[in-house]
Amino acid sequence: MSQLHTFTFNAFGEQTYLLDHGDGAATVFDPGMSTMEERERFSMRCVELGVEIVQCLLTHAHLDHVMGVAWVFEKWGVLPRLHPTDDVTWEQAPKAAQLYGVSMDVLPERGLDLEEHGSWVVCGTHRLELRCAPGHSAGHVVFVNHEQGWVIGGDVLFQGSVGRTDLPGGDGAVLAASIENQLFSLPDAFEVWPGHGPSTTVGSEKTSNPYVNAQGTGMLQREGV
Ligand SMILES: [Zn+2]
Ligand SMILES: [Zn+2]
Repeated sequence: MSQLHTFTFNAFGEQTYLLDHGDGAATVFDPGMSTMEERERFSMRCVELGVEIVQCLLTHAHLDHVMGVAWVFEKWGVLPRLHPTDDVTWEQAPKAAQLYGVSMDVLPERGLDLEEHGSWVVCGTHRLELRCAPGHSAGHVVFVNHEQGWVIGGDVLFQGSVGRTDLPGGDGAVLAASIENQLFSLPDAFEVWPGHGPSTTVGSEKTSNPYVNAQGTGMLQREGV
């Protein structure tokens, strides 16, 4: 995917994504750059690509996904957009940073709230469908590019695993339903770009993911979804 660029940032190995609009503008998803070196690496890449960040979108507001939002705002004047049902996660992020003993910049204001499930987010010529996919956090969303067949998936579905559900707002049954209804409803060839680890496809997770698989033997399915 030549227009989608990936970065691995911060102590949590979080995946930040940059979508090149193709016209000198770009959207950043889940900016997790936390050190000067990581920020330098990201901005050098923007220079190489010849893009300015014009939009900042969040799948959810866990601290590893928002560690770079203040810097993105300082550098490009762009405020992060979050689904309002994830407000509580956003509010808890600074406290979570304290608990984990990691330093985090003071969070900026937020931009316009993301709209409802099924709405569209415009990134230049790309149109992404917003789907609510709670369970890992209360207001988690994923962004689906139907034309190109990929998803910015955050911490819902990973290669061979699923998002943790033991944090505030997490719920295993709700997560399994989100995976089933919002991700497994997409064509098998769709590529899922997660918040941690390598990309995968809907089809391969359907058949091989031990937590939620099509055979109905998955752990989350046994928990009653
Ligand atoms: Zn998370
Ligand atoms: Zn994460």
